[in-house]
Amino acid sequence: MKEKIISELKGRGIALDKISEIVFTLQTPYFPYLTMEDCHEAIGAVLKKREVQHAILTGLALDVLAEKDMLPEPLLSIIKNDESLYGIDEILALAITNVYGSIGLTSFGYLDKTKMGIIGELNNVKHRQVNTFTDDLVAAIAAAASARIAHSARGDIAASED
Ligand code: MG
Repeated sequence: MKEKIISELKGRGIALDKISEIVFTLQTPYFPYLTMEDCHEAIGAVLKKREVQHAILTGLALDVLAEKDMLPEPLLSIIKNDESLYGIDEILALAITNVYGSIGLTSFGYLDKTKMGIIGELNNVKHRQVNTFTDDLVAAIAAAASARIAHSARGDIAASED
């Protein structure tokens, strides 16, 4: 299932390296010895979680269906136009950040505001591609991976847990 998720993200133009870059930027001030490999590993662990996988599959499917005009109105217009008062894209993304507690939540809020890296790129693509859910999902994956690094550095996550 994890590989399926990774290839779905790739199909939407999202390489995991782009998410790793965000995680690295967020966490390197706290962990100077952090490597891109650590960030990549943390993302891998996040993508193994079933609730994360389900949120990603759901959000990506809604964006793809909106691109194909296959959703009923008024939902179609709301998602296609990324209406600012909709908010369900952020709510769905919280299913991802919730797995790693408050650090995930605050990092997500920060990324939602700053639109760092590929999140901003996704948010700016308005032609044909609908990224209403996709940008929030990517921000949530980065936030959750950041939180995982923060927690594991403090020994909060048992080595056996995945
Ligand atoms: Mg959005």
